[in-house]
Amino acid sequence: MIREIDLAFIKLHILYHAAEDEVYGIGLIEELARHGYKLSPGTLYPTLAKMVKLNLLTFESRTVNHKQRKYYRITPAGLAQLDKVKAKIVELYEEIVKNEKKRP
Ligand SMILES: [Zn+2]
Repeated sequence: MIREIDLAFIKLHILYHAAEDEVYGIGLIEELARHGYKLSPGTLYPTLAKMVKLNLLTFESRTVNHKQRKYYRITPAGLAQLDKVKAKIVELYEEIVKNEKKRP
């Protein structure tokens, strides 16, 4: 079971990677596992579908080894969202991580 907050971090990873290059389901599951998120296709695909619905991602279906695969890319709206969130990440980092170090 993926927690609410984890899901927000996972969405940010997806946005970031979709901005760098096109991404697909299994590739994302492997990438997110590298960060310690164990994500099942049953969680990832609805998340991707939701992000498409919100116009953060677009996809293109292509056939690879006789299988249909959806390749996702970030949209201009997704990029704008990612930029906004970057500032928030810095702010959050400064408050949560940096302040904690100052504590006695
Ligand atoms: Zn990542």
